[in-house]
Amino acid sequence: MDLLLRDVRPLGAAALDLLVRAGRIAALGPRLAAVPGVPQEQGGGALLLPGLVEAHTHLDKTNWGLPWYRNEVGPRLEDRIANERRWRAETGHDAGAQSLRLARAFLAQGTTRLRTHVDIDTDAGLRHLHAVLATRETLRELMEIQVVAFPQSGLLARPGTAELLDEALKLGADVLGGLDPQAIDGDAVASLDLLFGLAARHGKPLDIHLHESGEEGARTLDAILDRTETLGMQGRVAISHCFCLGDVAPARRAALLERMARLRMSVITTGSASRPVPPLQECVAAGVLVAAGNDGIRDTWTPYGRPDMLERAMLVGLRNNLRRDDEIALAFDAVTHAGARVCGCADYGLEVGCRADLVLVQAQNVAEAVVARPARKLVVAGGRIVARGGAQQAAHPASTNYTYP
Ligand SMILES: [Zn+2]
Repeated sequence: MDLLLRDVRPLGAAALDLLVRAGRIAALGPRLAAVPGVPQEQGGGALLLPGLVEAHTHLDKTNWGLPWYRNEVGPRLEDRIANERRWRAETGHDAGAQSLRLARAFLAQGTTRLRTHVDIDTDAGLRHLHAVLATRETLRELMEIQVVAFPQSGLLARPGTAELLDEALKLGADVLGGLDPQAIDGDAVASLDLLFGLAARHGKPLDIHLHESGEEGARTLDAILDRTETLGMQGRVAISHCFCLGDVAPARRAALLERMARLRMSVITTGSASRPVPPLQECVAAGVLVAAGNDGIRDTWTPYGRPDMLERAMLVGLRNNLRRDDEIALAFDAVTHAGARVCGCADYGLEVGCRADLVLVQAQNVAEAVVARPARKLVVAGGRIVARGGAQQAAHPASTNYTYP
């Protein structure tokens, strides 16, 4: 967990050396003195990035590394939900092995902090939760994995789900998830009251999937804002997708963003190519933090996605028509510093005292790194070298010490 990294350019600044001691950044400066017993790595003038942040994925669902899944699903959201439950039951999908496989692939591409929503419903119960908690435990020293207890099949829609979420939070889920309180649950008021009540009882933050579009979504967003304000949950609520911000009238959007900024409510976007998306520059200008994530990767929902947050930043950039370097920097921020703030990650960044999560790429600057998505020359997680040239190194622990209760 000690390392002296020579000749690297933090976010494109002048070259310097970086010393890691006990897994943290201990010093930054030109020509640092060698420390006896501390191994050295030559950066060769490469661009140094902080560990990347995936703010929204579903590790438990993925088919990553498995034979191709033939997708004949849809077209409605409800079809995809029902299909997944059926597929899970029929195939005996191993959420433990698959979540670990995908988390490792993320790590090899430089992601060191990751928020994953885990399916909890009355069919699967807490099986996926235990599987992903085991993955979290296995990678604990290398990767911060935040587990969201997520009612993928609805909350009110399937009685018994609230009790399972309650149990999931007791067992160690970090965040409480929600899903389309109006469109799926059919009663935004009752659904949100139940959800906020659970979050308050456990003192956990909320991260709500909101696919509802237009005015329907905006009304739900109003209801979420009301409860955030009344219950004092400022800075503790994130809205994933939030498509309605992409297709309500500009004045309505401005009013919603003003209130979101005041209540420190953040947005997590995929930069979806197929739906209206929250306009990144407008959100940031209004003072709303925006993080980015893949959502599902190669699962029964989508054939797309790769565990590469530079690629996700590029897709967010394309979707938001970001061309200037200072605009592309906003997409990069969504997968680094802003992403870390949205997820409440501690000790994040390239300053002395931060956890030594470091990514080296061959690029001139941040904009080129986002656009070119170069191979990760070196990935350091918690002070340990975990990947070289995109390939995993031995520092990846092989098995879990998580015990199922
Ligand atoms: Zn999702």
